Amino acid sequence: MTLSAPITQDVLTLPRKLPEGGKTNLVGLTRDQLRAALIAAGTPEKQVKMRLGQVWQWVYHFGIRDFAQMTNLSKDYRALLAEHFVVEVPEVVSRQISADGTRKYLVRIAGGHEVETVYIPEETRGTLCISSQVGCTLTCSFCHTGTQKLVRNLTAGEIVGQVMLARDDLGEWPVAGAPKDETRMVSNVVLMGMGEPLYNFENVRDAMQVVMDGEGISLSRRRITLSTSGIVPEIARAAEEIGCLLAVSFHATTDEVRDRLVPVNKKWNIKTLLDTLRDYPRLSNSERITFEYVMLKDVNDSDADARRLVKLIAGIPAKINLIPFNEWPGAPYQRSDWERIEAFADIVYKAGYASPIRTPRGEDIMAACGQLKSATERARKSSKEIAAEAGL
Ligand code: SAH
Ligand code: SF4
Repeated sequence: MTLSAPITQDVLTLPRKLPEGGKTNLVGLTRDQLRAALIAAGTPEKQVKMRLGQVWQWVYHFGIRDFAQMTNLSKDYRALLAEHFVVEVPEVVSRQISADGTRKYLVRIAGGHEVETVYIPEETRGTLCISSQVGCTLTCSFCHTGTQKLVRNLTAGEIVGQVMLARDDLGEWPVAGAPKDETRMVSNVVLMGMGEPLYNFENVRDAMQVVMDGEGISLSRRRITLSTSGIVPEIARAAEEIGCLLAVSFHATTDEVRDRLVPVNKKWNIKTLLDTLRDYPRLSNSERITFEYVMLKDVNDSDADARRLVKLIAGIPAKINLIPFNEWPGAPYQRSDWERIEAFADIVYKAGYASPIRTPRGEDIMAACGQLKSATERARKSSKEIAAEAGL
């Protein structure tokens, strides 16, 4: 980790919003839920279709939070909305910008909990990495988030809200009447932040439906990637009910090693996981699955591992994403040497699979994969517990 790179940090001192008693936050409601909420607030049934379309467009296409600015609604209707609803996204407590342009937002959600959201600009795209839980119930031994116990699931509004607050910060909302700008700063979303998205299934699904909706943020389902540690019973459901791209935290080629790295393997082992994955591309009508493989020195990075890996996934349309291990304080592993990573990548590539090595981004601000953790959460494990779980 290079701490010498210049870092800019500005603590945004936004005024703390007073809790507005009893009002429903519209952010994160699906179309059906929003329709029901508008009717419950007194919108005549005859008008609800039109009103739903208008409100949806203001909130998700234009990013407007204040009902007074929803100028194609009558004054009375705006007042009715303001009486019952708010349009709120989680508060950004601080924003750090890495030397490489990566932005890490510390985001405060209801109850004073915090999660992290990371924006990674690249030449041809901008990827937003969002969190789905505060902490994680799983205890992958190489993952910083895994050292933090689960505090709670994020609501759909808090998940959609991360996309909205990033667009706020990047100044990406279109202006009414301006020519359409096709270049997007947040062009891709990855559910690879804190938490296991398939253990918060309904909220993640509803949030992604909002994000994919063509009248709003309008991200195609092929620009959303959900990463799972391998929650087998939810994988087919994700194909049917979300339909986004899938990434799997594979990380090992024997059950013995995977049990140690990704302990949920003891519940659904490599064979069970692969059997389920074989159906995913067909069920979700997507091209291929990304296998994520963290490179840990002398643990899972041998030539024999690379050969076993390609044998195991034979027949599954796949890309193998090699992730150099990102260190964090107290981590019980080391990153594999570059020559080792390249030799591993070469074997995988020669077997016919794309094998990109993921360039660590935002390391100087601890924004890289697996480094996210909210420092404020007290429930954390000791380094002894971490080492014991890693079987060290
Ligand atoms: N819970 C989900 C998504 C979040 S983790 C999952 O496990 O898939 C996103 C990716 O970062 C996963 O592939 C995870 O295994 C990987 N990761 C976790 N800790 C890491 C670390 N310290 N270095 C590199 N990658 C890590
Ligand atoms: Fe949870 Fe994913 Fe980290 Fe495992 S790698 S502890 S599933 S966030």
